[in-house]
Amino acid sequence: MSGGRVLEFALLGHPVSHSLSPAIHRAAFEALGVEARYRAVDVTAEELEAAMRRMGRCGGGNVTLPHKRRAAALLDGASTRVRVTGACNCFWFEGERGLVGDNTDVAGFLQAARDLVGKDWPVGRVLLLGAGGAAAAVMAACLEAGVGSVDVLNRTAEHGRSMASRVGGPGATVRVLEGPQSAGEPRGPGATPVALALPEAGPADCYDLVVNATRLGLEASDPLPLALEGVGGAAILDLVYAPNETRWVHEARARDLRAADGLGMLVEQAAASLACWLGVEPPRRIMLEAAAHAAGRAT
Ligand code: NAP
Repeated sequence: MSGGRVLEFALLGHPVSHSLSPAIHRAAFEALGVEARYRAVDVTAEELEAAMRRMGRCGGGNVTLPHKRRAAALLDGASTRVRVTGACNCFWFEGERGLVGDNTDVAGFLQAARDLVGKDWPVGRVLLLGAGGAAAAVMAACLEAGVGSVDVLNRTAEHGRSMASRVGGPGATVRVLEGPQSAGEPRGPGATPVALALPEAGPADCYDLVVNATRLGLEASDPLPLALEGVGGAAILDLVYAPNETRWVHEARARDLRAADGLGMLVEQAAASLACWLGVEPPRRIMLEAAAHAAGRAT
């Protein structure tokens, strides 16, 4: 596979210094006995294509914010999941096909959802909070898996509508809800965090799974993405992760709801990336331990 040379992988993004990916992949390479390096490289949008082509020839890599959409447009061969989501987070070189890529956030979410709800997957009704890149991967995964319906609730309803029409496609069972937070002017990244709320006459208490794919929870001062009173017995999947559990996950568990944070999905997207690059069975337990350690989690 490597012909005796040391393979080189990189995470390309801006910023990247906080990422857990190097720790996860290095632990995996060591466990597999693969001679490979993985480093985080801060690149601008202008530098992305050259970096992907250079790294792709040496082994491959991952792409993170803010470059996932641009990376999708630079590929010579895109997977169906890249085409559906419009985003690429994993790339490598493949002979005649050239620079190819996948969106392994989709596989990461699918496994995290299965781990959380077990035999109930695919569930009937999903409430998806958010409309950014992560939310697009979650929506694509839900529709691919055959979830009954997906309701989208986002701070900016227009972003929810545009994601639903892009990813959902005709005939998909997707609805965009307009909660009280949807009123008023669109807010930018620096605006005061806004907790989401279901429409008053809306369908509370009827979801099987609620997913937080917003940035709410990244800061300790953030409000909960959505108050849990209205969600009945739904399972809670928070894509955000924290050294121990996020506040939303903590509150969900206090209500005896099944809940998980985003560390499992992060590890599963890394495992799926490893399978793309090397065609091997990823050492998931070791990768999860490395992620938990790097996140500062008490084990
Ligand atoms: P993104 O494309 O920037 O999308 C951000 C989302 O958060 C949008 O829906 C945005 O709403 C919402 N948002 C941002 N600021 C907000 C605020 N102050 N109040 C309410 N909503 C706000 O980011 P992304 O890549 O989708 O990532 C979203 C989250 O998922 C991040 O926390 C990221 O760390 C996490 N994530 C986790 C994994 C994993 O493997 N666990 C993978 C990918 C992402 P508007 O449309 O109104 O701006």
